[in-house]
Amino acid sequence: MTDAVKLEAPFYAATSDEIDVFAAAWRQQLAVMLKGPTGCGKTRLVEHMAARLDVPLMTVSCHEDMTASDLLGRFVLTGGDTEWVDGPLTQAVRLGGICYLDEVVEARQDAVVAVHSLTDHRRTMTLERLGGETIQAAPGFMLVVSYNPGYQSVLKDLKVSTRQRMVGLDLTYPPADTERLIVSRESGLDDRRLDDLIRLGQALRRGKDAGLREVASTRTLIAAARLMQEGLGFRRAATAAIAAPLTDDEALTAQLITVIDAYDSSSEHS
Ligand code: ADP
Repeated sequence: MTDAVKLEAPFYAATSDEIDVFAAAWRQQLAVMLKGPTGCGKTRLVEHMAARLDVPLMTVSCHEDMTASDLLGRFVLTGGDTEWVDGPLTQAVRLGGICYLDEVVEARQDAVVAVHSLTDHRRTMTLERLGGETIQAAPGFMLVVSYNPGYQSVLKDLKVSTRQRMVGLDLTYPPADTERLIVSRESGLDDRRLDDLIRLGQALRRGKDAGLREVASTRTLIAAARLMQEGLGFRRAATAAIAAPLTDDEALTAQLITVIDAYDSSSEHS
């Protein structure tokens, strides 16, 4: 017998009871729908939970050209022969792992419907291309999907019949002290600039109505902190990592730079 090497769970700072709810859903073999804005930690939570529950993780970034075959598998040419290759969903079903469909509303409905039989009491999937082979999901199998409710439109939304097969977990950007801890761990930035950056992030979130479609995410704050660690000044790092992803509009960018400068406590601009 060999001892499997257990991976250490990647750092995840909880903002609410999401770890407990996720674990409860896994134990009860329920699918989970993670809702929340981009860069708020959805993917990190799934990575953390897979390691913590000690199950393999298959992640799929959904897009509009994705078909059911991309999830289930397909025949591929090897030499002169064709060979069946399991898709990520099938792999997770066989191995008892977590299949994570990131940004699931981007996927076409026919691809999403492929998961239905896995999310009810049957926990089975049928591979029509393998002559209708039916696979029973191994005990640890779990389906997790994520989406950003802010991007929903009539055209892009999950069917009610799909949504009702899942347990919903709402995630948001963490409170300032938790976000400070996250940005600190992910970048190693010093306390003063860390405080400035976190306060800047909070200010930008308060001013969301200023014409921005999105607010500064935890991910962009980490990117700014990393650029600062490379020697870039506060304004340059924050403009590149926070302002630029938020807008292309020149006037709005200028306004954002004013806000960035206002939160830079170094002597340069204050
Ligand atoms: P999402 O999937 O919601 O778009 P991610 O999980 O990719 O966001 O988060 C972006 C980055 O922000 C992660 O790589 C991680 O460094 C950091 N992060 C965000 N939230 C958390 C959290 N609660 N705990 C630890 N790291 C986090």
